[in-house]
Amino acid sequence: MWDARGFAPQLEAALPALLADAEAAIEIDSGSYHAAGVLAVQDQWTALLAGMGFAVQRQPLPGRGDQLTARLRLGEGRRLLLLGHADTVWPAGTVREWGFARRGNQLFGPGVGDMKTNVVMALHVLRLLLPAGLPGVGSVTLLGVPDEELGSPQSRAWIEAEARQADLCLTLEPARPGGGTVLGRGAVGAVYLQARGVTQHLATATAPGANAVAALAALVAEIEALSDYASGSTASVGILRGGAARQVVPDAAEMHVDLRAPDAAAATALLERLRAVALRPQQDARLVVEMSGGFTRPAFPTLPAMQALYERAAGFAGAIGATIFPVVSRGGSDGSFAAALGVPTLDGLGPVGHEICSRREWVELDSIVPRGTILAGLIATAGTAG
Ligand SMILES: [Zn+2]
Repeated sequence: MWDARGFAPQLEAALPALLADAEAAIEIDSGSYHAAGVLAVQDQWTALLAGMGFAVQRQPLPGRGDQLTARLRLGEGRRLLLLGHADTVWPAGTVREWGFARRGNQLFGPGVGDMKTNVVMALHVLRLLLPAGLPGVGSVTLLGVPDEELGSPQSRAWIEAEARQADLCLTLEPARPGGGTVLGRGAVGAVYLQARGVTQHLATATAPGANAVAALAALVAEIEALSDYASGSTASVGILRGGAARQVVPDAAEMHVDLRAPDAAAATALLERLRAVALRPQQDARLVVEMSGGFTRPAFPTLPAMQALYERAAGFAGAIGATIFPVVSRGGSDGSFAAALGVPTLDGLGPVGHEICSRREWVELDSIVPRGTILAGLIATAGTAG
């Protein structure tokens, strides 16, 4: 058994440097749409990774930060993939009014828990582990994704290509309060309905227009009724908009629908039922409804390999007296892409985050050492366990 109790004090000693690096990253605005900021965060990570001997490749994406691939080749053995992202949900200008702050056991700031502290923690864990070597590990690859908070639309193929070459994937999303660690996720979908009709000013109307808002509004209750919260399949209308003026029949409207499903089969079934409702022929043939989008995050199945990884994590937690519990999340992450390909994947390996992606987002300072130690144990034994 790897010596978790011996590692934790080393990480504790590295905490001041770790926090300084986290603060520097958090003090950079890096919303997904703010490419310059994402690039600046990736510059920091590139320097830290290069300092450890990683070869860092940066593939530019139009309008976004880079796709950062850092690879350390160690020889023959298992190939380990670490998934992180450099973007946040916060737009440019956020840091000026809400920067990094530390109060007692709480760390605050945009992206503090999702996931700047997390990636910096992983980098310091690697810095401590690498000098002693990683027996049985052939390579370590870390991805710094630039568009995760958008659902990784442009990065999915790249992440999947890296995942296909990996034997093990560790994802750095935040842990849940109490040490919740993710060994499964549901599928997440985003579907867009567009309606077109015939506009008309009501002052001059002698026959009815074809109201695009009315066409979509008629679907709302039926779409919501596709939800079965007990089984975890849900459809929810998040946006319905259209029209320009009270006295004008709207000829265009749009609806955004969120879909969640517990597994791939349920996702397919839910999408089919939504399609049947949304694309049913309209009684007024002048109205046309079109549907686009679909499931953007595949289901992350809890395979036996995920369970085994979790048991290892729990062993390291137990050794240092940290609490941990398994979570199957309804949200997606980049780990979902790897898990859906059957790559043994564990997620939620960052420090404990609270109220993630809200203005109250904060990280438990005293969770960094235990969570970092659990991550270190998984990396250190990646080549030899199981
Ligand atoms: Zn995240």
